Amino acid sequence: MRILVLGAGVVGTAAAYYLASDGHEVTVVERHPAVARGTSQSNAGLVSPGDATAWASPAALKTFLRALYNHDLGIKVRLRFDPYFFAWSLRFLRQCTYARLRANTDIKLRLALYSRECINAISADTGIHYDERKKGILYFFRSQQSFDAGTDNYRYLAEHGLPIEIVGRDRLVELEPGLAGARDRIAGGVYSPIDQTGDSSQFTRNLAAYAAEKLGVQFLYGTTVEGLDIEGDQVRAVMTSAGPITGDAVVISMGPESGLLGRRYGIDLPVYPVKGYTATVPLEDESMGPTMGGADEDQLIAYSRLGNRLRLASTAEFTGFDRTHKPSDFAAMFRTGKELFPGAFDENKAELWAGLRPMMPNSVPVIGQARYKNLYLDTGHGHVGWTMACGSGKFLADLVAGREPEIDPQGLVYRN
Ligand SMILES: Cc1cc2nc3c(=O)[nH]c(=O)nc-3n(C[C@H](O)[C@H](O)[C@H](O)COP(=O)(O)OP(=O)(O)OC[C@H]3O[C@@H](n4cnc5c(N)ncnc54)[C@H](O)[C@@H]3O)c2cc1C
Repeated sequence: MRILVLGAGVVGTAAAYYLASDGHEVTVVERHPAVARGTSQSNAGLVSPGDATAWASPAALKTFLRALYNHDLGIKVRLRFDPYFFAWSLRFLRQCTYARLRANTDIKLRLALYSRECINAISADTGIHYDERKKGILYFFRSQQSFDAGTDNYRYLAEHGLPIEIVGRDRLVELEPGLAGARDRIAGGVYSPIDQTGDSSQFTRNLAAYAAEKLGVQFLYGTTVEGLDIEGDQVRAVMTSAGPITGDAVVISMGPESGLLGRRYGIDLPVYPVKGYTATVPLEDESMGPTMGGADEDQLIAYSRLGNRLRLASTAEFTGFDRTHKPSDFAAMFRTGKELFPGAFDENKAELWAGLRPMMPNSVPVIGQARYKNLYLDTGHGHVGWTMACGSGKFLADLVAGREPEIDPQGLVYRN
């Protein structure tokens, strides 16, 4: 089949790789002049089944409501007239029960674990590197109270297949000597040894180059998708800034913009952009900084070590499609970074970035055929799209081929 993949982020590129590996003739349509210029450009770098817990929860409900008036939290809601945001919020609030938290987390964990196998297989099969570190990730807490409360979600993940070790402060510093300078600030944490870190932009670029060279995937850069030409129950063509492009099937992987396109054609695709910030700094000395990825669960800061760079990430902000940033957006992140890794970096050398998580109200991505016979979705990966991209692409390719998927599809397949 001739398949058009709309969007060249990590999700669309992974889908293109698997579809082309199945022998399809794949064209990827991307508005930017290169791959990974959207959310996949500079995320926190965690490939983390350990972060599979869904965002919507009874605790998140309280935080979300507090964020409406307190803008100093890691989660910020800037109220504006946006009916789409209100509709999304209502659906998010409906997911904030204990039962929905567990159900959504089950699906995400299953996909994240599967995706881990897929990214490792891609890397072995293609020889692609991405500043990867397969040493695990540490999720840690500052107070005993938050440690006791916070480990609950990780114990649930452990019961459902994620190997973890609950660690006190001494063991934590033994595992991560980079945190020795912050030892007294930390009560304890959770070590997830199968998690890894890596640069999603580098991965996407290298995978795209491999897919183009070895599998014949065509990338149409600088080409904006403007709409779909629908006839009956089929998409006949994709309307773009370069004119109509026809294909036998179309995959929407446009990250945060997917919902904007989908809802014009009656597809229930409540993807909403949730803004976050990252700063990437060179390490002053190779022996400084973390040796593996981590997350300070009380300060809501995540970090990864990408080669000789440290990437810090923070904030979930509801502010529409605004991708701008200013120095003050990074102040808390740098403060925490310096507490954790004193002397390891100079913030004046940082590359600053803001991006939009393509977030579904239940945090579960949507994959599968949608409304029209030849239209597929692979989008809405939210806060863990780098983690789930490869598994999603493989799962989608199995659905397109009509093959039995390798992963239990329950709860994953998009319902029209
Ligand atoms: C601060 C932050 C930290 C994060 N940290 C992590 C992490 O540690 N681990 C993790 O797993 N995930 C993380 N994420 C989430 C992850 O980055 C995303 O889920 C993932 O990158 C989404 O990939 P995507 O391909 O769906 O979207 P994108 O990367 O945005 O790709 C979509 C592509 O579609 C293109 N496009 C959109 N509209 C059009 C159009 N009209 N025409 C043509 N092209 C179009 C865009 O230009 C873009 O290239 C983080 C996100 C943020 C913001």
